[in-house]
Amino acid sequence: MIKLSQANVGAAEKEAVNRVIDNLYLGMGAEVRAFEAELNQFIDPEQVADALLYVATAHTGTSALQLAVQALGLKTGDEVLVPTITYVASFQAIAATGATPVAVDVAPLTACMNVEDAKKRLTPKTRALMYVHYASGYGDRKAIFQFAKEHGLRVIEDAAHSFGGLINGKRVGCDGDVTCFSFDGIKNITCGEGGAVVTRDVAVYNKVCDLRLLGVENDTEKRYKGQRSFDLEVSEQGWRYHLSNINAAIGRAQLARVESFIEKRQELFTLYSSLIDDRFAKPVALNITESVPHPYVVFLNDNGKSSDEMRELRNNLMDFLKEQGIETGLHYKPNHLLKYFAKEDAAPFPVAENLWEKMLTLPLHVNLSVDDVKKVSENFNNFFKDAD
Ligand SMILES: *Cc1c(COP(=O)(O)O)cnc(C)c1O
Repeated sequence: MIKLSQANVGAAEKEAVNRVIDNLYLGMGAEVRAFEAELNQFIDPEQVADALLYVATAHTGTSALQLAVQALGLKTGDEVLVPTITYVASFQAIAATGATPVAVDVAPLTACMNVEDAKKRLTPKTRALMYVHYASGYGDRKAIFQFAKEHGLRVIEDAAHSFGGLINGKRVGCDGDVTCFSFDGIKNITCGEGGAVVTRDVAVYNKVCDLRLLGVENDTEKRYKGQRSFDLEVSEQGWRYHLSNINAAIGRAQLARVESFIEKRQELFTLYSSLIDDRFAKPVALNITESVPHPYVVFLNDNGKSSDEMRELRNNLMDFLKEQGIETGLHYKPNHLLKYFAKEDAAPFPVAENLWEKMLTLPLHVNLSVDDVKKVSENFNNFFKDAD
């Protein structure tokens, strides 16, 4: 079976875990501090003294997002605009703080937040937007930030798909408001499970540091040294969301190899895009010289077919590929269609619902070979040729 996604881990990660076990300190400590410093250096190698970047890890990407939303002071009654096509993690992270995720339609080629639609969903309660780097593309990022600025909204970037990518020559996370990454088992680098909040806003950073340790104030420095606060102070709801030394050590081994991961993912994306026949489908729009693709998403051409026909065609294609030993996926079912997040009075989401019928994710990960990508592409094209 050619897997949809897979971690690339081996000797270096085993050695890293052994190192932590030999040190007999498994929780949050020196490995976490080192991983945060190395992430910081990777994202912002320039390190300008009066505009420092801060990196706080968390135990998942979802918890990083939740901590970011809470650290911005958002709570019950506040609204956060978020594209409806994203992993449910984005929605749940907002909801976990008591704030309300307000689904926004997406742009047709990138499936990133549609700014024109976001404007229509603004209310006096809107405080922030969570902008998702869908399938590692950035959509119309300039327009999204301009819109946020005009309306005094904070911007949380869900960059779970885009670790290692560049934006105007700088790493994702270098130039934004608050950026969150995921290092779960299949992302561009993995900790096993892990995440991070990245910002130049020191108040947000300090708050995230407290909130991830049950709200215990100023405990992070002590943890790094293998100590903790006993005469402690807490002044708001916190969570046990910090990263462990074991997971951080895996992340460090991955970060040391990230350049080879980036190159491989970009190569496979480019190969797919040259092999998949554009009469049948188009890849999600992104600039492959800057983006580091996490999933490989294509949108099937509908050639005048109805919604029902498209859904049937896509599902048949998934079954066909599975029979050939190729795993595929759907990223993602629009969140406004989920019971928990559906709102009867919401304006329609025509673009997202159209993309939902014609999206398909093909295998993309560092363990794939050129021959694997050729096999997937040939079978993909043959499905349509045989249907003619
Ligand atoms: C993976 C992912 C997350 C959540 O990250 P976890 O580490 O799995 O909790 C959030 N948003 C998107 C778009 C993701 O793909």
